[in-house]
Amino acid sequence: MHTFEFERATNSAAAVATAAHAKTAQQGADVRFVAGGTTLLDLMKLNVETPVRVIDINRLPLDRIEATPDGGLKIGATVRNSDLANHPVVKRDYAVLSQSILSGASAQLRNMATTAGNLLQRTRCVYFRDTAMPCNKREPGTGCAAITGANRMLAILGTSEHCIATNPSDMCVAMAALEATIHVQGPTGTRAIPIGEFHLLPGSTPDRETVLEPGDLVTHVTLPPPVAGSNQVYLKLRDRASYEFALASAAVVITVAGGKVTRARIALGGVGTKPWRSPEAEAVLVGQVVDQANFRKAAEAALRDAKPQSENGFKIELAKRCLTHALQMATA
Ligand SMILES: Cc1cc2nc3c(=O)[nH]c(=O)nc-3n(C[C@H](O)[C@H](O)[C@H](O)COP(=O)(O)OP(=O)(O)OC[C@H]3O[C@@H](n4cnc5c(N)ncnc54)[C@H](O)[C@@H]3O)c2cc1C
Ligand code: SF4
Repeated sequence: MHTFEFERATNSAAAVATAAHAKTAQQGADVRFVAGGTTLLDLMKLNVETPVRVIDINRLPLDRIEATPDGGLKIGATVRNSDLANHPVVKRDYAVLSQSILSGASAQLRNMATTAGNLLQRTRCVYFRDTAMPCNKREPGTGCAAITGANRMLAILGTSEHCIATNPSDMCVAMAALEATIHVQGPTGTRAIPIGEFHLLPGSTPDRETVLEPGDLVTHVTLPPPVAGSNQVYLKLRDRASYEFALASAAVVITVAGGKVTRARIALGGVGTKPWRSPEAEAVLVGQVVDQANFRKAAEAALRDAKPQSENGFKIELAKRCLTHALQMATA
């Protein structure tokens, strides 16, 4: 591993000011925050990430889960994934979030991994993690080895001719269905970003994965008040039952009255270049009778624009079945 300077931040404003010297935003930047380290240190060992300065943010007071005045929830950036998944309010009111986190990684990793680190985890595309291979995300302009290579795990929604990498997060899929907001402290002040606008599609700049700018520190995430009477499910399909990323997953937050859907929030994982909210599926469901045929119609709508690669065409039907089954589970 290359050499780098390491420092512990004790004050958010100072940490932001230091990180603002980075030439680019957090992902791929030369000055980096580190939280649990389960993404960043892995990639530093592989020489995929080579920051010259690493700022440990674990001592900042960002590790609390608190109620917000409007009845929602505020989740600090350094709250560990395990603490978030097992928090009684999250288990009761935001079950889809708890389920999504518990479906990911391992207990040991979840004890280290943090809210902001999970939001900013990087793709598992094998070429991104191999510095001998071309990769537009790691090294802009070098090409995409995955398009003609091993792409079974990669995306079918939101891809471009420059990158087809999947966003690997489970937590972000649930947060998309819960309409979370990401709060950032930057060199020029604070701002709030709806999760749907936080991650970027690859387009011609796959190296730029979020709207964060140099120095931006994610301070916390807020969830709106829970939706009364909603049922929530996170269903994850993968090659083995644990310690594996999703081939396809679905987060469903649905409300039913008199046998009809009155509200639906749906997001997919494992298939998109970003956590994939599906307003198309939601629109198909609202006002309709709760039955298998309507669930399948919603799944068809969610995958209508899917574009398969050479090895991952199976994901289209898999994702449809995943969503259909998640809807059945949520309304049973
Ligand atoms: C073997 C393995 C299996 C896994 N399986 C799954 C899985 O099935 N599902 C899943 O969803 N995830 C999985 N993960 C990924 C895991 O969830 C992430 O590695 C973890 O959430 C990252 O959190 P962290 O705090 O360790 O991040 P770090 O490694 O500390 O940081 C990650 C990135 O976020 C930036 N960062 C961290 N905090 C901030 C902040 N406050 N503001 C701005 N930037 C910040 C860092 O600079 C870095 O770029 C797996 C990981 C491993 C190693
Ligand atoms: S899919 Fe994206 S991350 Fe993977 S090799 Fe292509 S450019 Fe790199």
